[in-house]
Amino acid sequence: MLPSGASPRTPEAVEAKAASAASLSVLDAEIADCFACPRLVSWRTEVAVTKRAAFRDQTYWGRPIPGFGAADAEIAILGLAPAAHGGNRTGRIFTGDRSGDVLFAALHRAGLANQSTSVSVDDGLQLRNTRIFAAVRCAPPDNKPLPQERDTCAPWLRRELELIRPSLRVVVALGAFAWAAWWPALIDVYGLRPPVPRPKFGHGAEVILPGAPDLLGCFHVSQQNTFTGRLTPAMLDEVFARAKARAGLA
Ligand code: SF4
Repeated sequence: MLPSGASPRTPEAVEAKAASAASLSVLDAEIADCFACPRLVSWRTEVAVTKRAAFRDQTYWGRPIPGFGAADAEIAILGLAPAAHGGNRTGRIFTGDRSGDVLFAALHRAGLANQSTSVSVDDGLQLRNTRIFAAVRCAPPDNKPLPQERDTCAPWLRRELELIRPSLRVVVALGAFAWAAWWPALIDVYGLRPPVPRPKFGHGAEVILPGAPDLLGCFHVSQQNTFTGRLTPAMLDEVFARAKARAGLA
């Protein structure tokens, strides 16, 4: 599916394009054609040109990364943003980096992925009952999007959640950034106010609100967490077992 019309280059254009996307395939194409954040457009393009030495023979994607997985997913995994030499290189979220190695191995153990690795868009990976997407769709410098970039990108997240709302039962937020990105979506998509005080992120935290998907907190699968043992495979297994149970898949 090709994007319709001019590429979005302003927050207002992102709003309009996201709101009018009638299907996930249209939304995915529109996201991949987005140029609304000048700093991130510049960074994703620069990384794609300079490359990491190990990947110098590869053509980097260098664009925003749409969601990946089942259109009728019961479980959504919400991340922060693509990695410069992972998703920004391969064109698929959590693909081609150490974070993805850990995440997809866990999803495979949970029966939510048909294979344990994710190395390229044509590697045959398929998710079951699960869709993965990020709060910000372009790789940011130092993995740190600015608040304005998070807000500009929010309509893509909102629309993706609206489109999978009929089946969605559980959202797993990977890290505090994703956890925080959930609250505006809860208001906009489900018309619900977050609890007061707002629940704090933590590994194993959960928020259950009637009329919305259950929210589960999980430490991010970043190397800082997995290399240090802060997040172990057993901890991920527990989160996905709980997600499956809450989604009625266990
Ligand atoms: S971060 Fe989001 S809104 Fe900004 S350019 Fe990328 S896709 Fe567009």
